[in-house]
Amino acid sequence: MAFYKGTGTALRDGWTRHTLHPMRGYLFDLDGTLFRGNTPIPSAVKKVQELHRAGAIVRYVTNNSTQTREHFAAKLQGMGYPCEPAEVVSSGYGTGLFLANEGLKTAYVVGEPGLVATLAEHGIESTGDQNPDAVVVGLCRQFTYDLMREAMFRIRAGARFVATNPDATYPVEGGGLIPGAGSVVAAIQTCSETEPFVVGKPNPFLIQAALQEAGLAPEEALVVGDRLDTDIESGRSAGCPTFLVLTGVAASIPPGQQGGEDLSSLPW
Ligand SMILES: [Mg+2]
Repeated sequence: MAFYKGTGTALRDGWTRHTLHPMRGYLFDLDGTLFRGNTPIPSAVKKVQELHRAGAIVRYVTNNSTQTREHFAAKLQGMGYPCEPAEVVSSGYGTGLFLANEGLKTAYVVGEPGLVATLAEHGIESTGDQNPDAVVVGLCRQFTYDLMREAMFRIRAGARFVATNPDATYPVEGGGLIPGAGSVVAAIQTCSETEPFVVGKPNPFLIQAALQEAGLAPEEALVVGDRLDTDIESGRSAGCPTFLVLTGVAASIPPGQQGGEDLSSLPW
């Protein structure tokens, strides 16, 4: 095993100052943790490259449902992150996994083309049919009253209501916010009077999927993110140690929470 577990071998300066051992695996959030918009966070690129070189298992876990895994991998690679599409666990990917696990084969999708394509990877057919197995709702920047009404009809008729993620807002380049998937989900939840199953963080579903696919036990993987209420909460719920960074949403590290200014302060 290539990574630097154990004592007596100094693989980088200062290693012996730390008493904690490195982990077998690292599950990184994307936005606010590895990049901001289209701008990589340099200390994060350096750290993830180091961990990857040392043989650690790295997975990229995001609530973003609008793009395919290939798209996320290409974006991360372009920033210098070592990333293959199979190492990305997005909420769209998790939604496809959830539907397949539940035996749900067709879905009316309120979302973007990347979500439709990601569901298709799991054999889920997107349909305009009146009686789909599920209604899947994610971030949809073309959301209309008609889409809301069509989703409502189908959920009231018995289709399973599945939401990709609950985020109220979504950060865009320059520090601004746009309405997130959770806002679209809330509209459809209100008119259908039905609670969705929400796949994304803080539900531990994505973390558990990443652990299972990587062959990691919860205690072997560090969940790293910039939000306490989603990233850190999902990691805790899955039974993983967690690490909060201040490069995104969180402004301080609460007492008892492991964390640092950025990824350079990861003690492993
Ligand atoms: Mg984030």
